[in-house]
Amino acid sequence: MRRPSVRDDLALQPGYHSPQVDVAVRLNTNEAPEPPPQGFVDALSAELARIDWHRYPDRSALGLREAIAELHGVAASQVFVANGSNEVLQTLCLTYGGPGRSVATFEPTYALHSHIPRITSTEVVSGERTESFGRDMDEVRRVLGDHDPTITFLCSPNNPTGMVETEETIRAVAALAPGLLVVDEAYGQFAPWSATALVDDESPIVVTRTYSKTWSMAAARLGYLIGPSWLVAELFEVVLPYHLDSFKQAAGRIALRFEDEMNARVATLVEERGRVAAALADLPVTVWPSAANFILFRPEAVAGDDVWKRLVDASVLVRNCASWPRLDGCLRITLGTAIENDRFLDSLATILETP
Ligand SMILES: *Cc1c(COP(=O)(O)O)cnc(C)c1O
Repeated sequence: MRRPSVRDDLALQPGYHSPQVDVAVRLNTNEAPEPPPQGFVDALSAELARIDWHRYPDRSALGLREAIAELHGVAASQVFVANGSNEVLQTLCLTYGGPGRSVATFEPTYALHSHIPRITSTEVVSGERTESFGRDMDEVRRVLGDHDPTITFLCSPNNPTGMVETEETIRAVAALAPGLLVVDEAYGQFAPWSATALVDDESPIVVTRTYSKTWSMAAARLGYLIGPSWLVAELFEVVLPYHLDSFKQAAGRIALRFEDEMNARVATLVEERGRVAAALADLPVTVWPSAANFILFRPEAVAGDDVWKRLVDASVLVRNCASWPRLDGCLRITLGTAIENDRFLDSLATILETP
C-alpha cells in the first residue's frame, strides 16, 4: 500500500489536543457546569417531529439568523452561523486568508487563532502582550505595521488569561488594522461590555460568539458572528452548502427563548468566580484577574505539571498550560458548580501544603 502523505505545510505542526480524562470533576474546557433548562429540551423534542428529514436544511439558516439578529439588535444579513465558532473562524480564514496572506495574534491567546490559519495555509504573525498579559499598543502598531495582516485576532475576554479588552483598545486596534478585525467573544456575556456595539456595515470588524459556553450547549457545536452584511454574504459563498443541519438550526433558535435562564447561570458563575479567586488569593499561587468563566493561576513553589497530575489523582481535571509558551507553570481552572469548585480548592490546598 502506498499511503498519501499529509500536505507539507501541515506535516510540521501538531494538531489540537485537549485531553478528555475520565474524572469526577471536569474543569478543563470552559464548558458550563449546568445543562440548559428542561423547557429547552422539551421544546426541541417537539420541534424534532416537525423536521422534514428527507429535505436539505434551510441553506441560509434564516430563522436562526433572525433570532440571533433580534438578540443583538442587528439585521439578519449581519449574522453568519456555523458549526461552532471554530468553523466561523475557519470560514473567515478560508475567505480572507490563504497563501501569501497573514493573520496577526497576540500571545498567549486561544490556540485555534493560530491553528486554524495554519491549516488554511495562512501565515501567522505572533505579537506579544506585556509581562502581565496586558495590551501593549506599541507592539500592536509594530506587528500590524510590519506585517500588514489581512486578519487581526483579538480575544475578549482572552482565553486563557481572562483579560477583557477595553472599548478604547478595540477602537484603537481597529483603527490600526490594515484588514479585518475579529473580536472573539466566546465569553462575552461574562464581561462588562461587548464589541458588538462597534459592528456596522461600514467597518471591517466582526465579533464571534458561541453557544458552547454561556448557552450550555457545547454538545450542539454552534457558533456565529456579527459583522457587515457584505462580509456575511462572502462567507456564505465559501462555506459548504447546507453546512448547518436542520436540528441544529432549531436548537439554536429555541435556545434563545431561554435567555433569562442563561443570564442567571452567568450570574451564578460570576459569583463563583469572585469566591474562587478570593480563595486562590489565600494560597501560594499567582492569580490573574478574570472576566470570564475560568481563572489562570501559577503555583509558586510546586511545578504546575506536578500540581496538575496530583489534581488528576484527586479526580479533578484542570487545563494544564504549564508547558505552553509564555505560560510556564500555569494552570487554568474552569468554574464549575460550587461543590466542584470546593472540591478543586480543597484538593489544591492539600497539594500545596504537602509538596
Ligand atoms: C471555547 C472557545 C471558543 C468556542 O469554540 P466553539 O467552536 O464555538 O465551541 C471560541 N473561542 C474561544 C476563545 C474559546 O475559548
